[in-house]
Amino acid sequence: MIELKNITRLYRSVEVSTAALRSIDLTIAKGEFLAIMGPSGCGKSTLLNILGAIDRPTTGSYHYDGLELTRLNEANLAEFRARHLGFVFQSFNLVDDLTVQENVELGVLYRKDLKGQRSNLVEAALDRVGLAHRARHFPNQLSGGQQQRVAIARAIAGSPDLILADEPTGNLDSENGAQIMSILKGLNAAGSTIVMVTHSRAQADQASRQIDMLDGRLLLSVTRAV
Ligand code: ADP
Ligand code: ADP
Repeated sequence: MIELKNITRLYRSVEVSTAALRSIDLTIAKGEFLAIMGPSGCGKSTLLNILGAIDRPTTGSYHYDGLELTRLNEANLAEFRARHLGFVFQSFNLVDDLTVQENVELGVLYRKDLKGQRSNLVEAALDRVGLAHRARHFPNQLSGGQQQRVAIARAIAGSPDLILADEPTGNLDSENGAQIMSILKGLNAAGSTIVMVTHSRAQADQASRQIDMLDGRLLLSVTRAV
């Protein structure tokens, strides 16, 4: 599904140049649940942003189902993201003055192909995370764990093939974190491919594969025996 070859990402400024990623080769198969770990600053977010086509590599190629993404222009990349990807962030990133329902609808707003089905898709996504009864509430009326479930509903409303999650439980207590993990595992069991950055070895152990990063490089990769 995904093939990164020789990916490098340099951040250049006047005085310094930082290599956030160095010669990354990574293949991700459909249906995988990949956990990425490593110390702060090792390049995890940069890698996730490149996988999510939010950022472009300085060198290297990114094939997604055979499509070379680094050759697409911004408009085509935006369309690609809307159709194929779902994003979940550590800080939820909900819009405070929109209701839960309206926040989730943002996940399918740019999908012209789904225009007539939006309200059904929003309802199904909220159902999936157990928050259908909160549709008319506002984010600040919900707990952190509930807000992250809304963010997951927004990410999955358009049935993306790939879910990218950057420390999705980083701002949550362990009980809410476990609930988010259980939702992600359920989505993975139902066919979604997931790439998650985490600081928790216990969470990474629940993924189908773990990759450790250091200084912009991939270290060992552990695949769980099933
Ligand atoms: P993490 O929680 O993954 O460690 P950080 O808090 O370090 O992420 O960074 C969050 C975001 O801020 C990154 O995705 C990146 O885009 C940006 N960022 C990180 N370091 C720098 C930097 N030195 N200069 C500018 N932006 C940065
Ligand atoms: P992680 O997510 O593992 O904490 P990041 O991918 O955020 O790491 O950052 C990797 C390296 O790139 C760090 O040295 C960070 O300071 C640097 N970096 C990240 N984003 C930027 C940016 N926008 N501008 C400059 N440097 C950045």
